[in-house]
Amino acid sequence: MIYDYLIVGCGLFGATFAHQATAAGKTCLIIEKSHHIAGHIHSAKVADIDVHVFGAHIFHTGNERVWAYVNQFATFNRFTNAPIANYKGKIYNLPFNMNTFYQMWGVTTPAEALAKLEEQRAEVQGEPANLEEQAIKLVGRDIYETLIKDYTEKQWGRPCKDLPAFIIRRLPVRLIFDNNYFNDPHQGIPVDGYDAMVQAMLGDTEVRLDTDYFSDQAYYDSLADKVLYTGPIDQFYNYRFGYLEYRSLRFETETLDQPNYQGNAVINYTDADTPYTRIIEHKHFNFGKQAKTVITREYPAEWQPGDEPYYPVNNAANQALFERYKQLAILEEKVFFGGRLAEYKYYNMDQVIDSALHLGDQING
Ligand code: UDP
Repeated sequence: MIYDYLIVGCGLFGATFAHQATAAGKTCLIIEKSHHIAGHIHSAKVADIDVHVFGAHIFHTGNERVWAYVNQFATFNRFTNAPIANYKGKIYNLPFNMNTFYQMWGVTTPAEALAKLEEQRAEVQGEPANLEEQAIKLVGRDIYETLIKDYTEKQWGRPCKDLPAFIIRRLPVRLIFDNNYFNDPHQGIPVDGYDAMVQAMLGDTEVRLDTDYFSDQAYYDSLADKVLYTGPIDQFYNYRFGYLEYRSLRFETETLDQPNYQGNAVINYTDADTPYTRIIEHKHFNFGKQAKTVITREYPAEWQPGDEPYYPVNNAANQALFERYKQLAILEEKVFFGGRLAEYKYYNMDQVIDSALHLGDQING
């Protein structure tokens, strides 16, 4: 054995684990199938602007350990996510707060907004069985139909009735005029970009890019005592029980010869006629003053085997299939699994780091 750990995948989970293991005196080799580090948080400079190549990533957390941890590797700016929704040309603030309620109903006080919400929420009684019921129970039918239904059905390619309720519970509902999309006390973007942060986590860890684990699994396994696998769990088992479903994305990025295209980092298009879900204007993540701007239209895409997986589709059928794979995974003696793809979980960045830190705690003692 040459290394203590072979780490398959150089995303946030793999990098966090590598850092913990190295700090505990272990040796690691990371292999990564793509040409860059940092997985889906990878960013790249275009026209001197840091572009979030795989969609907007805004770091936020309420976990003090994770916040202290990432601050060892990056300085975070004061960016606060306050996305705007465009529904058929009309603008609404997100998340659902007094600004939204004013725009939707003309109500100007929390008491008026609450009365309106309660009237509309009454449509759903009892425990919501799916995303549609959960959304109506949170904010009522008017907001559901304007800001949620079409956006969600584009994003997930499925009717809201067939989606799990938890997806929409991520979004805050507030009776104050506060457009901060997150409730967490800590939020920001690394001023030097996510790749620099991940590179600092990696330190001198050996990383082999453009290296596919499955091209010679036995060989790579032979290099290390233990293997951390962060890829799709179904792929690890050669899809023997069938494919887990993911939602994929397609990005169209353009550099424009103007300083400010949309005046905000994120604008969601919540109607069914606009084919993309959102437009990201990357410079606004860093308060950029460049003469040009770079925008990305994000199109949801049906995932086919071989495509890049982005979001796990955690409905009952997929969860049941995942459980079967998980039963195999827990029997492994040499290999352990972690991250969004291997745990088939809709993780935020801080949750990925937290999970990797816990794994590090366990196996490093
Ligand atoms: N959502 C919505 N309208 C919006 C923004 C979000 O209906 O304008 C719903 C949608 O179902 C989405 C979920 O809330 O999948 C979570 O959104 P979030 O922005 O947290 O998702 P992510 O940034 O991870 O794609």
